[in-house]
Amino acid sequence: MCRHLGYLGPARSVGDVLTGGPNSLRVQSWAPKDMRGGGTINADGFGAAWWTPDGVADYRNAMPIWSDPAVETVLGGIESTAVVAAVRSATVGMPVERSACAPFTDGTWAFSHNGVVFGWPDALADLAADVPPTALLRLQAPTDSAALWVILQHLLRDFEPEKALRELVSRVRSTSPNPRLNLLLGDGTTLYATTLYHSLAVLDTGDSVTVASEPLDDNSRWRLVDDKKFVRVRPGRVDITDLE
Ligand code: GLN
Repeated sequence: MCRHLGYLGPARSVGDVLTGGPNSLRVQSWAPKDMRGGGTINADGFGAAWWTPDGVADYRNAMPIWSDPAVETVLGGIESTAVVAAVRSATVGMPVERSACAPFTDGTWAFSHNGVVFGWPDALADLAADVPPTALLRLQAPTDSAALWVILQHLLRDFEPEKALRELVSRVRSTSPNPRLNLLLGDGTTLYATTLYHSLAVLDTGDSVTVASEPLDDNSRWRLVDDKKFVRVRPGRVDITDLE
């Protein structure tokens, strides 16, 4: 299953966020350490979202991250205080295309899903029925993750982010058998994440915080997040609570 990462802190180049550390997100694309049976490598594209004074900007590519020189030549020259990024391993039967690569953005939020909704699309039909048709028609790709994003956007209209994510996880768990739902949502100042059958780690240095599927380096302050947790972080502030 895919790997994802969120960073908040002093301005850094987006390229550096993707490639920093001996187990960087880029390294995790070809040599991930903790996939928990969900695939082997993450070669089906990648994406990065970063915040600017005007909102969220993003770059996505359906090619493996290691094959794209723009990681250095373009993203290396863009600085931001907040980044959400992902490398993708497409679930069997789901297309490999740019629009299926996380993060999914909407001007305010950036969202990534590491996992799979078993029984998709039927398992999401009831939840999708609550979403206005116009929003459904804007579905970016025929994948479980893109559908989760449309449903989450709808929930974010009624609930604050933590409640929206908890609702999403609980509703999907009621219709899909043992879904794998490591979700990551950011608004540029706070990161929200869930663990459900996949790995996650947090590093808080006081002035910056990183949430990543796997520790990016051997810093002993990485905290491994247990399964079925809700994570809410800002620099200097890490809250980890039970998901259920
Ligand atoms: N199921 C999602 C997709 O196909 C996420 C894949 C993953 O986490 N490996 O895009």
